[in-house]
Amino acid sequence: MSKAFASSGDTAPKAETLETVGDGIWALTAEGDPNVGAIEGEDFLIAFEARATPLMARRWLEKLRQHTDKPVKYLVLSHYHAVRVLGAAAFEAEEIVASAETGRLIGERGKEDWDVEFGRMPRLFDGYEEIPGLTWPTKTFDQHLSIDLGGTRGTVELSWLGNGHTSGDIVAYVPSQKVLFAGDLVENGSAVYTGDAYHQDWMTGTLDRVAALDVEVLVGGRGHIAHTRDESQRAIELTRDFIRRMFTAVEKVKNAGSDIKDAYLAARAELLPDYGGMPVFEHAMVFDVQRVWDELDGKRPAIWTVERDHEVWDRLTK
Ligand SMILES: [Zn+2]
Repeated sequence: MSKAFASSGDTAPKAETLETVGDGIWALTAEGDPNVGAIEGEDFLIAFEARATPLMARRWLEKLRQHTDKPVKYLVLSHYHAVRVLGAAAFEAEEIVASAETGRLIGERGKEDWDVEFGRMPRLFDGYEEIPGLTWPTKTFDQHLSIDLGGTRGTVELSWLGNGHTSGDIVAYVPSQKVLFAGDLVENGSAVYTGDAYHQDWMTGTLDRVAALDVEVLVGGRGHIAHTRDESQRAIELTRDFIRRMFTAVEKVKNAGSDIKDAYLAARAELLPDYGGMPVFEHAMVFDVQRVWDELDGKRPAIWTVERDHEVWDRLTK
């Protein structure tokens, strides 16, 4: 049976839900599509993630404007993936903030990633013709940046916690309210895309450091918001379970001397009962297994191109 490439067959619109997750903190979820958020400062806003196009970003901002009309001073990007960054122009932010590593990755592979993600998930790119070009951070940091919210509102702590979903992911943590925006380092009720990941670092030290934060509300990259301490920890462990079981299944097949197609079938069979019904499962599995395979060979994440995307898809699924 041949499957539609990646998520190209997924064209039904998703319902978007704006939730107030703290005092002056909002998140927009969309049934497994990329989540976004905003944090209110004394006289400005910090937006977390930009969505894939300015049009998609404006739809989010219109909902946010029912709660606050403060200007967006900082647009924080958790990592370089196109569906998270290319809508940046709509925010008219003073600063676009990301890790220095994310800035480097945008220079190295931003254009290829734009092409690839458009091909994989066209539904997320409504209004794509309006994208003005690559999104470049204007303010970067290596490990940690603290933003003062003004008044008595406390701070937002941006941290790079280790290699994970990419080598540049950061999280945004509001200590005064114990709210965490974890980006794609944590998914809650969605399959986990790892095509650019460092699985071994992610499922050990990096997720340990996420789990060590004192969190009562966790907004992951995709899926539901976790509203309690327990739910937050469960979301982290769900992400770890997906990565570990997939990694182990691929490693076992590879060590036995079989080929990558067998590894794909084994990893898919391992995860299907628990994760098969979740968003982007079939899409993610193919690219994930290729990346596990390469990581086991000691390679850095290769740049996905449209050509490589289809070559890997066909080799594993047909
Ligand atoms: Zn991502």
